[in-house]
Formats: sequence, C-alpha cells, structure tokens
Amino acid sequence: MDRAPSLATLTEQTKAAFEKRFGRPASIVVAAPGRVNLIGEHTDYNDGFVLPMAIDRYTVLAADESRGETARLYSSLVEEQQDVPLSAGDVSFLPAWTRYVRGVFDAYRDEEGIQTPVFDAVVNSSVPLGSGLSSSAALEVATATLVETLTGKSVSPVRKGLLCQLAEHRGAGVPCGIMDQFSSVLCTAGHLMLLDCRSQETKMVPMNDPGIQVLIINTNVKHELTGGEYAERRGQCESAAKILGVPSLREASTSLLEERKSSLDDVHFRRARHVIGEIERTIAAASAIETSNWDEVGRLMYASHESLRDDYEVSCPELDVLVQAAAELDTEQGVIGSRMTGGGFGGCTVSLVRTDAVESIAQAICDRYLEQTGIEATAFATPPAQGAMVITSN
Ligand code: ADP
Ligand code: MG
Repeated sequence: MDRAPSLATLTEQTKAAFEKRFGRPASIVVAAPGRVNLIGEHTDYNDGFVLPMAIDRYTVLAADESRGETARLYSSLVEEQQDVPLSAGDVSFLPAWTRYVRGVFDAYRDEEGIQTPVFDAVVNSSVPLGSGLSSSAALEVATATLVETLTGKSVSPVRKGLLCQLAEHRGAGVPCGIMDQFSSVLCTAGHLMLLDCRSQETKMVPMNDPGIQVLIINTNVKHELTGGEYAERRGQCESAAKILGVPSLREASTSLLEERKSSLDDVHFRRARHVIGEIERTIAAASAIETSNWDEVGRLMYASHESLRDDYEVSCPELDVLVQAAAELDTEQGVIGSRMTGGGFGGCTVSLVRTDAVESIAQAICDRYLEQTGIEATAFATPPAQGAMVITSN
C-alpha cells in the first residue's frame, strides 16, 4: 500500500523547506485535507445529498509575513516558486496552480473586504493531484485558513467553504459544486458528513468503528474526454427536471419518474433515474452507517456503481475492473462494498473493508487490476479525518 507521510511529518518537512528557502522560520502552519465521497455521486448539482469524509492526506502551508511587494509561494510538488500579486487585477499571466490560491485572496477581498497581507509560503501536499481526491479544494481551504490566520479575521465555516468554491469558479474557472470545499472545511475525525446541497446543511454521521476502514484505490488513469461531458450531464439533468415539472431532480421521485416515463427519451430517463436513485441511496446509506448495518451499506455502494456505469455512463473499464475485483472478494474476505468515486472516467474507487484484512484486500485487487489492464494501481487506507486546522500560529 501507498504510505504517505503523516500530517506531523509533512508539517516538519514543510517547515524545514520554508526555513531553507526563505532563511527564517515559518510563523504560521496550516493544513487542509482532501476528501473522498462514500456515496452520492453527481447529485450535488441536482440539489441532492452527498456523503463525503476528509481523508488523512493534507495540504500544508508554512508561511510568514514579509515586506515584499507580492506573495512568494513555493510548491514542493510542482517544484516552482511564483510571485502572486495580492491586489485586484488581471491574473491571466499566472500559472494555473497559483490561480487557486489567488482566487481565495480575491474572494476574501471582494466578498468580505479582507485583504491578505504580503507573505512568503511553502506549500506541500500528500493529496495526489488530479485524482479526484480534491487537492484543489485542499489548496484553497489551506489558503483560506492562512488568510484568516494572517489577518486575524475569520468568517463562518460555511462562508469559508463558499468563498473557496468561489475561488475555484473565478480563479481556476472550474464550475464545481460545494462538496469538496465544504468537506475540507467542515469534516471532523471519525465522521462522514451528510451534506444537503440544496439547504447547505450538514449532519455529521459517526463512523468510528475501528474494525472498518476506507480503502481508496487509484486507477491511475484519467481518460481525456472532449471536455463537454460534465456540462452535458448537467444539461441533461436540467432538461429532465423541466420535463418532469420540478425545479431540480431533488424534487422528483421514483414514482413521478415512472409516471412520466413516456415523456422522456431513453438517455434523459436513465440520467434522471441515476440522480433520483442516488439521492435515495445516499440518505439510506447514512442511516445504515448509523446503525452499523454494513450489509445494507455495501449493497447501496454496489448499486451506486452500477447506476453510474449503466445509467449515468461516467465509469470506465478500469474503474469497473477495480469494483468487480472488490465484489469478487466479497464479505467473507472482508469487503463490505465498493464503487467509483468522484466525477468518473478514471480516478479512484472507494471501498469499505474490514480493518484486519485491508492489506490483503488491497493487494488482491491491485494484482487483479494489473493482470487485467497492465496498469499499476495505488491503494491507501484512511479513517475519516479532521478538516482544516491551524497547526502553528505565533
Ligand atoms: P483534484 O482536485 O481532484 O486533485 P483538480 O484538477 O481539481 O484535481 O486540481 C488539481 C490541480 O490543483 C493541480 O493540477 C494543481 O494545479 C492544483 N494543486 C493542488 N494542490 C497543489 C499543490 N500542492 N501544489 C501545486 N498545485 C496544486
Ligand atoms: Mg478538484
């Protein structure tokens, strides 16, 4: 299994990198985690429910105020130092990765009147980039935590999540929902977060049974699509809701869908069936976890995967191989359930497994995957971790 440095080790490494680069110790260290969604996929932009948790992989920022003109930011992952201006203005010349950071400065200034002072910083991360575990939200939320620590001004956690979402929209140009940023801000150790994307209300669902682990396996593929798939799915959901006469698919039900089946073409019917069914499954999974009804949780996870594969058509052969391999191991061998997680077309699967079998399960699935695809998968286990935090501030 893939072992990343612990948060404590990552913190020490990042502080040391700061001191080496800038010649003085960092006075502030903050961290924000990536996330994985246990169930509730492609429901966020349909006003539905999602059930994510923070993962034990963090983006850490070590920083100190400076007297320069612009913020100086070094990323250990991309091995690049960039000057990031803090005042309003054109940012099109900035490299892509710094726009997530700059987007946060802009959101705090434009929406809250909070101006970030000049600083130097090193950013490091154990969240794999671009694998659907939300390194982008981790970077934004870590930055927001830094801004609040530097200025001594803070907003509510929900507002913080929304400002980071705005940073992703305006800074990076990605029209994401609220799940990623809310997870990185609000999640707490030992809990999943049932998030109602319509009301933006959250309910923490305890999942702290030491006998159960969350296993994340990365296909290490990302299929290059024409780029329009996400927008196309969104559009299909909107049209389906309109035809069903509801503001969003959240307000539709399985019975309404069946009643109006003849007014929808096959594609719109299947897209709507996924979303409506997935919202029901997400609520059901939260209750099943609360009562430790693991058979039911597993059944819901596999049903979610099948629906994403057949009705929503966002899986890919590699994700299907991983889920199939997990399903074949079965509950006897410690696998509770498995499904693709994230937007799809590559990225990771999430599985619930028995802790005592996690190593052998990961090995068996990765072996099977290599055999069938010729690709090495990477696996790691994580408990539900803690959301954003200030580690040092002096
Ligand atoms: P995901 O959020 O699933 O990891 P995204 O494509 O949304 O994938 O975001 C990944 C991008 O975020 C990277 O390509 C990079 O631009 C930026 N990023 C995230 N973390 C870091 C980091 N520690 N250093 C530099 N860039 C980062
Ligand atoms: Mg992202």
